[in-house]
Parts: sequence; structure tokens; C-alpha cells
Amino acid sequence: MTQNSDLKHIQNWIFDLDNTLYRADAEFFSQIDRKITSFISRYLALQPQKARYVQKEFLAEYGTSLSGMMAVHGMDPAEFLDYVHDVDLHMLEPDPQLRGFIQALPGRKFIFTNGSKGHAKNVAGHLNLFDLFDGSFGIEDVDYVPKPKRSPYIKFCDVFDIDPETAIFFEDSVRNLEVPKHMGMRTVLVTSDEDWGDEPEITRPAGHTTKADWVDYITNDLTGWLGENS
Ligand SMILES: [Mg+2]
Repeated sequence: MTQNSDLKHIQNWIFDLDNTLYRADAEFFSQIDRKITSFISRYLALQPQKARYVQKEFLAEYGTSLSGMMAVHGMDPAEFLDYVHDVDLHMLEPDPQLRGFIQALPGRKFIFTNGSKGHAKNVAGHLNLFDLFDGSFGIEDVDYVPKPKRSPYIKFCDVFDIDPETAIFFEDSVRNLEVPKHMGMRTVLVTSDEDWGDEPEITRPAGHTTKADWVDYITNDLTGWLGENS
């Protein structure tokens, strides 16, 4: 039984992976960010600074840098995903309390990431959380069409037979919550105190953004929030 009466109807708990199931201040994601820059730099034979500009432009315009590279440069996604997700996991610490709260959630639990399926398994496995989930979606599962576009959310709900009215979505990216909210889900924005000043405003994680009207809840502590509300 959930403690928050606004969530009593929730039967499906959907979590983004990166910077949501682990804290953004773990600095883990910056490894991936840098690897994306170096992959694009090599692939397009650009100086790293120019490659980074392309990376962030594509992230803003296409939802992910990968999606932009595929659309504009016809890049094959497999090698890119293998390369950028080959990262050092040691800086991520499993959180036993978070595990306990997710385990106790009433209903089904899912991971829905714009990263690869293997990345979800790798990272959530390292965090000692992966076995708690009833299913996970990576970018391969949505034909490489990323959040925040509408079609991947529709496919996700179809595949797992989820009524959006009974679901809640946890994300660190504000724009990725807009479609879930319009579909009828509750939305939780997971923020951090990181300085995202070098990210384009539209793709910047939520540390310094104001609450959007499609965000129901905002927290900088997922574990604490689940403890209080679920
Ligand atoms: Mg994320």
C-alpha cells in the first residue's frame, strides 16, 4: 500500500536509467558523454571541440546524439553503442535502501533507457537492482527512436501491456516526461546539484531548471522520495 494517496492507483513503476537510478553527482555519466565525443570525433574526422558541438546539437534536435548520427550520417548504431557504453562501473555504489524500496513497490517495475539494452543490464546489475525489474527497454527495442519522441513510449506500453493511467515515470530529463504526462502517467523529475552549464538548455538535466507543468513531483533524492511516498 502506498503512503501517498495520489499514487494508490499506480501499478507500473517506470524508471529511466542514467542519472536516475544512480545519482548524477556520481560523475558516472560523464564517462559516456566523453566517449560519445571521441566516437563522433573519430567517425567524422573532427576536432574534439567540433565533435562535441555536433554531439550536443544532435542531442537537442534528435533526442540522442546517436539518433542524429544515424539520421544525418547514416551511421550503424551497433559499434557506437558498444563503444560508448564500455565504461568503468566502480564509481557507482549500490544503494541497499533503494533496492529495498524498489523491491517493495506494489506492481510491476521497468527500466526504459535511451541507452542500449546491454547498458541497462550492466549498470542496473552493478547497482544490484536489475533482478527487481519485470522488463527493460533499450534503444534497440524502439528501433533507435529515442525519448522524448512519442512513439517509443507508445511501443513500451504496448509491449508490456501498460495502461498509462496506472503508471508513474521517473526521469532526470525534464523533456522526457512531457509525453508520459500527456499519456496519463504520473511524473517524477529526479534532479541533482550538478552544474550542467555546458549542456544545451533543452537537454540539460534538471539541476537548474524550473519545474515544468508536466512534472508532478520533483526530488533530488530518489531513495528518500520512494521511502516517503511508496
Ligand atoms: Mg537519464
